[in-house]
Amino acid sequence: MTNKVVVIGGGVSGMAACSQLRNFGYDVDLIEKAKDLGGHVKNWYKVFPDFADATEILDKLKGDLNGTRVLTNTTVTKIEGEAPHFVVTTSDDEIITAKAVLVSTGFHHFDATFKEEYGYNIYDNVITSVELDAMLKAQKVRMVSGDKPKKIAMIHCVGSRDEKVNNNYCSRVCCTNAVKVAIEIKEQIKDCEIYCLYMDIRVFGRGYEELYRTSQEDYNVQFIRGRLSEASERPDKSLLLRVEDTLISKPMRLGVDLLVLMVGMEGNNDLAEIANLESGCDHFYSTANQQYSNNYSKHDGIFLAGTATGPKAIMESITDGRSAAAEIAGFLSKKSFNDLNKTNAEKKIPSLV
Ligand SMILES: Cc1cc2nc3c(=O)[nH]c(=O)nc-3n(C[C@H](O)[C@H](O)[C@H](O)COP(=O)(O)OP(=O)(O)OC[C@H]3O[C@@H](n4cnc5c(N)ncnc54)[C@H](O)[C@@H]3O)c2cc1C
Ligand code: SF4
Repeated sequence: MTNKVVVIGGGVSGMAACSQLRNFGYDVDLIEKAKDLGGHVKNWYKVFPDFADATEILDKLKGDLNGTRVLTNTTVTKIEGEAPHFVVTTSDDEIITAKAVLVSTGFHHFDATFKEEYGYNIYDNVITSVELDAMLKAQKVRMVSGDKPKKIAMIHCVGSRDEKVNNNYCSRVCCTNAVKVAIEIKEQIKDCEIYCLYMDIRVFGRGYEELYRTSQEDYNVQFIRGRLSEASERPDKSLLLRVEDTLISKPMRLGVDLLVLMVGMEGNNDLAEIANLESGCDHFYSTANQQYSNNYSKHDGIFLAGTATGPKAIMESITDGRSAAAEIAGFLSKKSFNDLNKTNAEKKIPSLV
């Protein structure tokens, strides 16, 4: 009889889960569709709230995989059977029998081209927060001309809290990410002016509020409570932003060299049909109970972790992966206990309780 758990998705949540499952004594197969493990975090440079090096976090998680069998460039095409007898077929036609399955397939970025009025993919000097992180990593925050920008605006809530794109939820990480990248830009380009245009500032975690204060007091980052109605390009490729300052209810114009769109998270429900999982209108997977069974899906034996169930920061995703591992261990020990009692009952041996 197999003692295996299959984990689908090798981001921080999936890797954290694998390590714990191995500690609990399970054989673990980690299936990752990309060529490398790490998920979105492998694209980040320094991460909030403590400017930790993203590569170091990933190296630590990879180092803790603890004998997990890793299948990269692979996904899952079929999941058959019921707990604790699942049969998982991979895209390489390998058949794996497993007692339980964990789905930790993360999120997608909001596609900024849907906000045409912000000019992404239309104007050269409009980029997303994902592209900005790559520039920071390369120590090269530049305009398309190759010059250093002197004035940058960051637009919060791009693709989040926005009825027009049908994403009403808050992506939770982008305010703190904006604060973090603003500080990093100031570290790399000292005389650059930075304006963050926000609806509300949501910096909820430990150390986040302090980072927000530091950005203003020590780095002079400017926060404007305002809505960008439209960006247009000027002949020199700089951008003119038409903004409504919502604190004083007045329209204003702001000229900048570079416009950064803080794109939000969207659910990735690609496995919904294959794993027989439900997802909400936000495309994140639904859990069995949001209060006390947040790693259980509605499909017995198939578990969920990380941003697959909603926006989370790295630390929350790692913790959620470990929590899912504990839930799986609990579920399987209960299951084998019940199975043993059932067998004993068939053999007329007295119950264990
Ligand atoms: C712009 C931005 C900046 C951020 N910066 C920070 C920061 O500074 N600090 C912080 O704490 N948090 C930050 N975050 C949040 C952080 O990125 C997430 O918490 C983290 O990536 C979540 O990890 P995950 O494992 O849940 O998902 P992911 O990182 O999305 O990983 C999921 C993995 O599953 C794989 N996968 C998907 N589908 C399949 C499939 N069908 N089969 C097999 N594999 C599959 C993917 O390839 C990927 O490797 C940021 C988020 C954004 C959007
Ligand atoms: S975290 Fe901030 S930027 Fe992101 S959606 Fe929420 S309010 Fe908007």
